[in-house]
Amino acid sequence: MNCYCGSQQTFKQCCELIIKGLNNAETPEQLMRSRYSAYAAKIPQYILDTYAAPTRKAQSLGDIAQWAKQTHWLKLTVLTSKNITISQFNSRTNAALPTVHFQALYFDKPHFCLIEEKSRFLVEHEQWRYLDGEIIQHHNLPTPKRNAPCLCLSGKKFKHCCALLDH
Ligand SMILES: [Zn+2]
Ligand SMILES: [Zn+2]
Repeated sequence: MNCYCGSQQTFKQCCELIIKGLNNAETPEQLMRSRYSAYAAKIPQYILDTYAAPTRKAQSLGDIAQWAKQTHWLKLTVLTSKNITISQFNSRTNAALPTVHFQALYFDKPHFCLIEEKSRFLVEHEQWRYLDGEIIQHHNLPTPKRNAPCLCLSGKKFKHCCALLDH
């Protein structure tokens, strides 16, 4: 299976290495992808740990865990991202924070939902962290007919696919 983040590598070769701390996220996009995969794989501690300190204070592990549990993350599309490394960030002259603009599709029974966000990242203790994001759109999509192709793009009919998810 390809990684949840949609790369051509397996989860083990891709985001799991970052989530387990074996590799560092080298760019904001890699951190964003690993956070998405942590939602998909339901690893809330990683999501909490990768918030920047000012934002992490307002988060609770319980809320993140509940949200990860009830949602099924189906597809990530990175629209634009700035591939800046930590050392480039540390020596930058422009105060603007790097962003990653993405769309994600998830299923929160009974609805498929689309979220589009421009996320901002910064470096703390030589690690990329997620600061915050501007929501561009976030809404439910029309539920497919039972015999229609599933919106998660599995190629299966909805009734044989996400309609069967238990919550
Ligand atoms: Zn990945
Ligand atoms: Zn599906």
